[in-house]
Amino acid sequence: MFKKILIANRGEIALRIIRACKEMNINSVAVYSEADKTSPHTKYADEAYYLGESPSSESYLNQDKIISIAKQVGADAIHPGYGFFSENAVFIEAVEDAGITFIGPSSSSVKMMGVKTAARQLMSQYNVPIVPGTTYPIKSVSEGKEAAIKIGYPILLKAAAGGGGKGMKLVTIQNEFASSFEAAQREALKFFADDTVYIEKYIENPRHIEVQIFGDRLGNYVHIFERECSIQRRYQKIIEEAPSSFVDNKTRDKITQVAINAAKACGYYNAGTIEFLMDKYSNFYFLEMNTRLQVEHPVTEMISGLDLVKEQINVAAGEKLSFDQGDLKINGHSIEARIYAEDPENNFLPSTGKLLEFQIPSGPGIRIDTGFSRGSLISLYYDPLIAKLSAWGRTRQEALERLKRALSEFQVAGVTTNIPLVKAVCNNINFINGSYDINFMEKEFTGELQNRAVSSNEIENAVVIISSLLKVRSSSTEFKNSITDNNKWNELQYE
Ligand code: ADP
Repeated sequence: MFKKILIANRGEIALRIIRACKEMNINSVAVYSEADKTSPHTKYADEAYYLGESPSSESYLNQDKIISIAKQVGADAIHPGYGFFSENAVFIEAVEDAGITFIGPSSSSVKMMGVKTAARQLMSQYNVPIVPGTTYPIKSVSEGKEAAIKIGYPILLKAAAGGGGKGMKLVTIQNEFASSFEAAQREALKFFADDTVYIEKYIENPRHIEVQIFGDRLGNYVHIFERECSIQRRYQKIIEEAPSSFVDNKTRDKITQVAINAAKACGYYNAGTIEFLMDKYSNFYFLEMNTRLQVEHPVTEMISGLDLVKEQINVAAGEKLSFDQGDLKINGHSIEARIYAEDPENNFLPSTGKLLEFQIPSGPGIRIDTGFSRGSLISLYYDPLIAKLSAWGRTRQEALERLKRALSEFQVAGVTTNIPLVKAVCNNINFINGSYDINFMEKEFTGELQNRAVSSNEIENAVVIISSLLKVRSSSTEFKNSITDNNKWNELQYE
């Protein structure tokens, strides 16, 4: 077993991994940026080392620095968490070349699943149903229009290297194809330095269902049931639950088997997630594979009783999975809400500042994952996730009641959060009845929350706060304009 693990991440997921290390008597090494100098993860780890300035490119994405710290301190493994380097094949190879174990899949699996067109091609060869569309990049408007007619409008243009809901454009009629194609290419180039775009049929009102799989290096595979993540905003998950209230046993048997086949197709080991869209007839289509631990893994842990991070560490050390498929059963229901420092009433602008109050809920069936405490500074540099609040109950109803009770205990001051919005979702009759799909937020909350115009006063306030954090002059017109440009916020790293 490893003696020392470096955690190449920050916030709640860094703490989550350090906790697993402690339970396994493995020394933990934290790394941190300027903005995170006093963050809880730096104090909780056995050792902590400075990476560099606050922007990710100078800290959590500084490959050479991370690997050189790992070598210097004698870490025998690196856990990447999610985001940052977790799905970066070049990083995995560099870690392994340095004689250090990467806690995750092989670089070749990551490469195979990292490009969506290639992943779709591979999946269709292994009889995994994919969303109808192209498995090749679209090179020109005329080629794209021809393919779109065959597939049938509405279609989605998607970035082959995409992630975080970026680089997606919905096209409902042919007249809009050319401009959307160019816009999708531009966005793909900007976010992923790769303008490759392909087409998927736009599935109307599906549910987002994903399957947690696990493989060891000896060729054993299991699934740990499904999660439903249909409550989303701009293609980003807000509430996740396990199991899905929509999936019956027969469908569960089918989708989990297909997920295992998908994992086998790329010789996968360690924790992974196969994402699907499911229509109202329970037909499901492969969307993508996330070759890492998911943000929403706590709901799976709560219904299975497993510790996925410990299992990741075991498997990376070459051990056999500590359980068989037959050992697993779904126990109760779990729902997670992502608590973001953002303002739902103000175009979801990230809200920055000091956590003047941060009283987290507790009590039966409640789990909190957070990387912050009272006094922490929420900066603009990283994902504005401040906590994951997960509730477990014997039934979905009990889990939901506990989630609502916990939300009412959650006290945050100093930044604006989406807690009121999450409460509103929990009290929505369609959510309570489990009758929702990926368009739930738009259908139920448009107008009220999503598109409220930002007043000039609010912009001024945001400019002052953010400019002081970024150390730029708030009088800069360019900067002011960027504040109202949603793309600016979308550049932040979300998972
Ligand atoms: P990313 O990798 O950017 O997260 P995904 O392919 O995982 O993108 O899709 C993210 C979300 O976008 C899905 O959960 C779903 O809500 C929506 N989506 C993606 N593809 C389609 C599609 N073909 N039809 C309808 N909705 C889609």
